[in-house]
Amino acid sequence: MQDLNEFIREISEIYDKDSNDTFVSLYINRGSDKKIIDKRIQTCKSILKGHELDNFSKTMDEIDNFLRSSNIKHPIAIFASHKYNFINSIQLSVPIDSSLVVDSSPYIRPLARIQDEWESFTLVLISTNYAKLFSVSLGKVEHTKKLSKDIMNKHKKGGCSQARFNRLRRGAIHAFFVEVKEALEKIADERIILAGPGNAKQQFRELLPKNLQDNIIETIGIDIDDEKELLKESKYLISEKEKQKGHDAVIKLKQEILKDGLAVYGVQETLNAVKNGQVDLLLIQKDIKLHGWICEHCQVANKGTASKCPYCNGEVSEVDVLEEILEFAKRTDAEIEFTSDEELSNLGHVGAILRFK
Ligand SMILES: [Zn+2]
Repeated sequence: MQDLNEFIREISEIYDKDSNDTFVSLYINRGSDKKIIDKRIQTCKSILKGHELDNFSKTMDEIDNFLRSSNIKHPIAIFASHKYNFINSIQLSVPIDSSLVVDSSPYIRPLARIQDEWESFTLVLISTNYAKLFSVSLGKVEHTKKLSKDIMNKHKKGGCSQARFNRLRRGAIHAFFVEVKEALEKIADERIILAGPGNAKQQFRELLPKNLQDNIIETIGIDIDDEKELLKESKYLISEKEKQKGHDAVIKLKQEILKDGLAVYGVQETLNAVKNGQVDLLLIQKDIKLHGWICEHCQVANKGTASKCPYCNGEVSEVDVLEEILEFAKRTDAEIEFTSDEELSNLGHVGAILRFK
């Protein structure tokens, strides 16, 4: 599958600076939801007029052709515009809420949220003679590697001395761990979960270089056969950590605001900062949309309503201003954190930790 981060980054660069309702963003779970989408299509057609209606109809035809001609097995996000002869899509391994948005730029918020909520990680299940490595991305196991080695467990009477046997056994285990380490170094994610029975995982950990040790976010004691249970537990753990990250970020934001440090909050301040490329971490409240407008020509936006752009006197588009902030943030490689933390609503539903001031 495509890299979601790169995809979002690419899509966030696209906008139509001359016209309002150019891009169609369609999120759909294959097979289901057709009725919801058909209804949305009818609604959009009844509202759009002139060349915007014409562009919309043609864009929808192209999306239809694309869906018919490609072999799609997963939920999919499609972004298209007939006017720009543009169509791009990404298949997702997690379910999405169906939606259809017509706007002056692709609507990326659902994708950005998936990226935030389904962080990838590497799982290492290890004992003294068996190891399995899993790469989990967007909630799905994408890659597995199995390693094992015959390691003698019992000292036979009449063979070498007990001490010599122990030495040989330790050596064999060490060699096996080195093999696993080398395999792990090739695929390790920024987040690693280390699991397995007994002390093996701890010994293995000590063998790892510091950067990999630092990436270990949790150690789980579990039987070597409990693979299914382990995957379940790991996914849960990652999603809990993600929620915690959201709360921690809000706390950090508040601290920075209190000491008048590297932080902004509220739509206006955050917009300015994100357009200046100052934002290191953007915090957005989940499930909140804020009514606003944008002039794509001047790339100026704000909350509330405006009949004309105050700079060029041109037409403005009505938008969810949080989406616009998000698009600016993606273009400047800011990290995005969605949070359900209530405290953020008191600060205007959006805020940011800054790179500089
Ligand atoms: Zn303007």
